[in-house]
Amino acid sequence: CQMDFNNNQPFLLEKKPKEEPEFNWTEFWKFLRPQLLSLLAAIVLAFGTAILNIQIPLMLGDLVNVVARFTREHTGNYLNEVKGPAMKLLGLYGLQGILTCGYITLLSRVGERVAADLRKSLFIALLRQDVAFFDANKTGQLVNRLTTDIQEFKSSFKLVISQGLRSITQTAGCLVSIYLISPKLTGLILVVLPTLVAAGALIGSVLRGLSRKAQEQVAKATGVADEALGNVRTVRAFAMEDREAHLYSLEVEKSSNINEALGVGIAIFQGLSNLALNCIVMGTIFAGGYLVAREQLSAGDLMSFLVASQTVQRSMANVSILFGQIVRGMSAGARVFEYMTLESTIPLKGGGTIPYHSLIGHVQFKDISFSYPTRPGHDVLKNFNLDLPPCKTVAIVGHSGGGKSTVAALLERFYDPCCGVVTLDGHDIRTLDPSWLRRNVIGFINQEPVLFGTSIMENIRFGNPDVTDDKVYAAAKQANAHNFICSFPDGYKTVVGERGVTLSGGQKQRIAIARALIKNPSILILDEATSALDAESERVVQEALDRATSGRTVLIIAHRLSTIQGADVICVLSNGMVKEAGTHTELLKKGGLYAELIRRQRTEGQQ
Ligand code: ADP
Repeated sequence: CQMDFNNNQPFLLEKKPKEEPEFNWTEFWKFLRPQLLSLLAAIVLAFGTAILNIQIPLMLGDLVNVVARFTREHTGNYLNEVKGPAMKLLGLYGLQGILTCGYITLLSRVGERVAADLRKSLFIALLRQDVAFFDANKTGQLVNRLTTDIQEFKSSFKLVISQGLRSITQTAGCLVSIYLISPKLTGLILVVLPTLVAAGALIGSVLRGLSRKAQEQVAKATGVADEALGNVRTVRAFAMEDREAHLYSLEVEKSSNINEALGVGIAIFQGLSNLALNCIVMGTIFAGGYLVAREQLSAGDLMSFLVASQTVQRSMANVSILFGQIVRGMSAGARVFEYMTLESTIPLKGGGTIPYHSLIGHVQFKDISFSYPTRPGHDVLKNFNLDLPPCKTVAIVGHSGGGKSTVAALLERFYDPCCGVVTLDGHDIRTLDPSWLRRNVIGFINQEPVLFGTSIMENIRFGNPDVTDDKVYAAAKQANAHNFICSFPDGYKTVVGERGVTLSGGQKQRIAIARALIKNPSILILDEATSALDAESERVVQEALDRATSGRTVLIIAHRLSTIQGADVICVLSNGMVKEAGTHTELLKKGGLYAELIRRQRTEGQQ
């Protein structure tokens, strides 16, 4: 065994307990760079807002000083005196409004564009992954990365830029201004505030933990409901409604308990923080009043001090919340970027092609050994050899789980063999362009055809988006599908329901056949194409298949032996190897494994 194509598949290592991926700054930069101008502008505006927020308390103080003087002295024209500071303050408020509007607009633009670019790139990155990648990762989790993780990353990013910048600037600026107003009072605040904020952060993190638990529990309950509703036929068939209802109510009960506890926690937190805040205000007035009485501080300065110290307190609390958000945002971002840089081992495109007219369609499997990347060490095929002569039909039979579908997967290049080669007209298929191979050469029809939630026309066109409507009709006729499609009120425009549920198994299968035929493939793979059908549907589908297979190299993977008796060669697969090969009559005469399978299926059929 000289060639090992399995040794550079990093995702396989993930079978061990999953490690949290690291945040990829270089990747992030790639997405951020195009938005840099808007981001910088947003940062400047947010910074401006913060600076204004520092000015406002001081202006308020000026205003209050005018009011205080007027109440004390009752001289001069109140309106005239108050106009100046009031107009200044109003102007500041206006400017602050405009800046806030500007930076929020710019920041959400940056956030949305980065998120959209991330979604598009991640989706493309996921689509190009190896089939083995999808064996190892659950679809739900992959979809989560596209939705929840990107969402979380985006909001954290926006929050960090807007709140983080503002909070830090404001904390620093307001601290300076309150220090300038009254160093003594500032000293007092500097002892009390951090203690309170730290206590608040501590309670906050406990509450967040509880909230996470509550969310998990809600998700668990939803999972139970989802499973029961999604599989309602099975639930009904086993009369398990009561049990499902009981299961669901247990989970809902648990989640409501956690949420109630969370509610109590939030209530206590709110109560305590209100108390603390009010005490700070009162304490400041109390201590500041003392200074005012001793004429060390003006009333206006006390007002400025109060408002500015409130800003400090709010900003510090924001910063403590932000830390949690940064951690969550970074880990969501790390999950988003993880698969973007992951290269597949089997590329989607690239490699040679064989011109259509010289393509013969001769496939050979030579000394193939293969085990699935998700189950290394479990050899599905061992020294497997098979010849698919051009324009002949070869059937593979054998026990279920014997590796029949795996042979088809290797031909489609869903996986590469560990040892040995698969050749098409003498070329190693690893040197050929995989997308050309799949799109132009091979037609694949399997047991459970998957249709997409669009019109029948588009579903058939999935095989070849460029063909005319007439070609679609011709393929449908060949697949015995035209008549039933025309019997629908909307004909070819009929939209098939989710996962094709509005069609019967046989109808879906015939659309799938039309979809494969429209490629005009030289090689056709039928993977147990009729085994899920009832006898009548099987007959119509079989008829379509017989028509479809003529003039093509065909590989049939068969469960029911009755359908493949006309095959040119029948191979019996056992323990990953071809044990017997020949025509139906030859193999029967030989009296080996095939004869045994036939005998067993007959007796099963009679029972
Ligand atoms: P058959 O088509 O003959 O029923 P398969 O080719 O589907 O058999 O499967 C052969 C063996 O490979 C079985 O043991 C099966 O469990 C295993 N297998 C099939 N598909 C996968 C997969 N995607 N990942 C891991 N093991 C697989």
